[in-house]
Amino acid sequence: MAPKSTVTRPKIQLDAIVVGAGLGGLYALHRLRGLGLKARAFEAGDGIGGTWFWNRYPGARCDVESLEYSYSFSNELQQEWKWPERYGTQGEILKYINHVADRFDLRAQVTLNTRVTTAIFDRKTNLWTVTTDKGDVVEAPYCIMATGNLSTPRVPDFKGLQNFKGKWYHTGLWPKEGVDFSGLRVGVIGTGSSGVQMIPHIAAQAKHLTVFQRTANFSLPARNGPMEPARESTHKANYPERRKAAYDTPFGIAGHPPPTQSALDVPEAERNRAYEEKWKEGGSISFLYGYTDLLTNKASNDTASEFVRNKIRGIVKDKRTAELLAPKDHPIGTKRLCLDTNYYETYNRANVLLEDARSAPVEEITANGLRTTAKQYDLDAIVFATGFDAMTGALNEIDIRTSDGTRLRDKWEGGPLTYLGLMVAGFPNMFVITGPGSPGVKTQMILSIEQHMDWIADCLKHLKTKGYHRIEAEEKAETEWVDHVNEVAHKTLYPLAHSWYMGANIPGKTRVFMPYVGGVPAYKRKCDEVAAKGYEGFTLA
Ligand code: NAP
Repeated sequence: MAPKSTVTRPKIQLDAIVVGAGLGGLYALHRLRGLGLKARAFEAGDGIGGTWFWNRYPGARCDVESLEYSYSFSNELQQEWKWPERYGTQGEILKYINHVADRFDLRAQVTLNTRVTTAIFDRKTNLWTVTTDKGDVVEAPYCIMATGNLSTPRVPDFKGLQNFKGKWYHTGLWPKEGVDFSGLRVGVIGTGSSGVQMIPHIAAQAKHLTVFQRTANFSLPARNGPMEPARESTHKANYPERRKAAYDTPFGIAGHPPPTQSALDVPEAERNRAYEEKWKEGGSISFLYGYTDLLTNKASNDTASEFVRNKIRGIVKDKRTAELLAPKDHPIGTKRLCLDTNYYETYNRANVLLEDARSAPVEEITANGLRTTAKQYDLDAIVFATGFDAMTGALNEIDIRTSDGTRLRDKWEGGPLTYLGLMVAGFPNMFVITGPGSPGVKTQMILSIEQHMDWIADCLKHLKTKGYHRIEAEEKAETEWVDHVNEVAHKTLYPLAHSWYMGANIPGKTRVFMPYVGGVPAYKRKCDEVAAKGYEGFTLA
C-alpha cells in the first residue's frame, strides 16, 4: 500500500476569507472587492449557488416572487434579467446566480469542492487561520461566514438505513442528473416546504407514492404562471422605489398594503371573503399580512387557520386523508408557511397514500422498504424531505475557536448567542451573514443578505479609516440582544410551533427561538443606529 501523502500547500494570505459561495458569499466577494480587499470564497459544492445548487428535487422553486427575490445592488442587472415565471424554479435561480458571478467577474475568486474544516482566531496577531479538507491554509484578518441557514441536510437517525436495497435521497443533496421514479414504489418522509413542493411531481411519475407525515403543515396555492409582460414592466419601471419600500415591510417584501385592523374587528363573512381573495391571488405574504394580528393573537389566527383547514377539506375527497392533512397542532404561519402547486389535489390520485407518522412513527428502514410501529411498507426508493440542522448547523460543523481556547460549539451549546446576528462575543473579526438573532430567514433572504453585507462593508471601511484591527461584540450587548430577540418572539405565536426556528426538528438540540421576528424596519434601524454611534456594543481595538 502506498504511504498516505499529506498535501501541504503554501499558506494563502488574504484580507478576508469568505466561507460559502451562495447568494451571500458571492455578494460578499463583490462588496469586498469594492473596498479594495483581497478575498476568496471557499465552497464545498462543485458549483456556486448554495441552497440553489444543492436543492434540485423535482418541483424545487422559490416561494418569494422572482422580481423581489433577486439582487438589488445593480440596477442594470435587475433591469436586464428576465424571469420567465412568477416564482423562479431552482434551475432558473441557479442560472441567474451563475449569470451574476460572470457579469461581476466573481468566479475566479471562488475555490470549489473545498470544505472549510477549522477557523482559528489568534488574539495576538488578530488573524484568522482557516483550513480546508483539501489541505489549504488561509490567513486573513477577517472571516465572513456565508454558510447559509438551511445548508446542513439531516436524515433522521433511523435504524437500518444501510440495509435498504433500493435508492434513497435527501431533498437537500439531490443528484445533479435527476432521478427517474417511473414504475417505482416511492416513500416520502417529511411534509415541510420541500416535501410539499416535491410530492405532486413524484406522484405524477411514480407507480405508487406513500407519504409519511408526522406533522401536517399549512400550505397555500402559489398560483405560479408565466411572467406577465405588464407585471414585469411595471415592476421594473418602479424598481428603485420597490426595493426601498421593501425595507419598510416586516418581511422585506414590497407590494402588499400594510394591514390596518385585527381579524377580529371584521365580520366573519367579510373576513372569509378577504381570505378567499388572497387564496385566489396566491402567495403567503399577502395572506399573513392581511390583518395586523394574525401572528400575535391566537383567536385572530384561528380564523385564518380554520379557513385553510376548510379549503383542505374541500379539496381532498377522502375524509380521513383530509383530516390528517388539516394542521391542528400549530397556528398558521408559526411554522414556515408552504406554497404549493396541486399539493392537496395530489391526495385525490389513486396512486397516492398518506400515512400518519405521528401515531405510527417510522421505526426502521428495512431491506425492502420501511417499517412503522404499525406496518411494513415495500418501497423501491425513499426520499427524505426531513429538513436541515437549521441556522446553527453549518457553523457548528466548522471547528471555530480562538487562541485562548474558546469554541463556538461550546458557547452555543445552549442555543446560539450573537449580537444582531452579525457577530459573536469572544470571536473577533468574524462576521455572520444572516446569522441566528437576525431576521434573515423570516424575510426575503437576498434583501437581508445585502443589508448584512452592506453593514459589514461599512464597518470594515470604518475600521480601516480609523486604523483599528479588531472588532468584537461585547458580552453585555450580546446578552441584551439575545434577551430582546426572545422577548419579541414571546410576544408572538411563533413559539407555539415545534419548528426548525426553535431547533425542534433536531433531537437533543436546545430549544430557543433563533430568528429575530421584530421585522426588517426595526432591525435595520437598530443596525444603522449601532453603526452611527461608532459601533455601539462592539469593542474596537
Ligand atoms: P422542514 O420544514 O424542516 O420539514 C421536514 C419534515 O420532515 C417535517 O415534516 C418533519 O416533521 C419531517 N420529519 C423530520 N424528521 C422526521 C422523522 N423522524 N419522522 C417523520 N417525519 C420527520 O424541512 P424542508 O421541507 O426541507 O424545509 C426547510 C425550510 O427550507 C423551509 O421551512 C423553508 O424555509 C426552506 N425551503 C424553502 C422553499 C421555497 O422557497 N419554496 C422550499 C423548500 C425549503 P415535523 O414537522 O413533525 O418535525
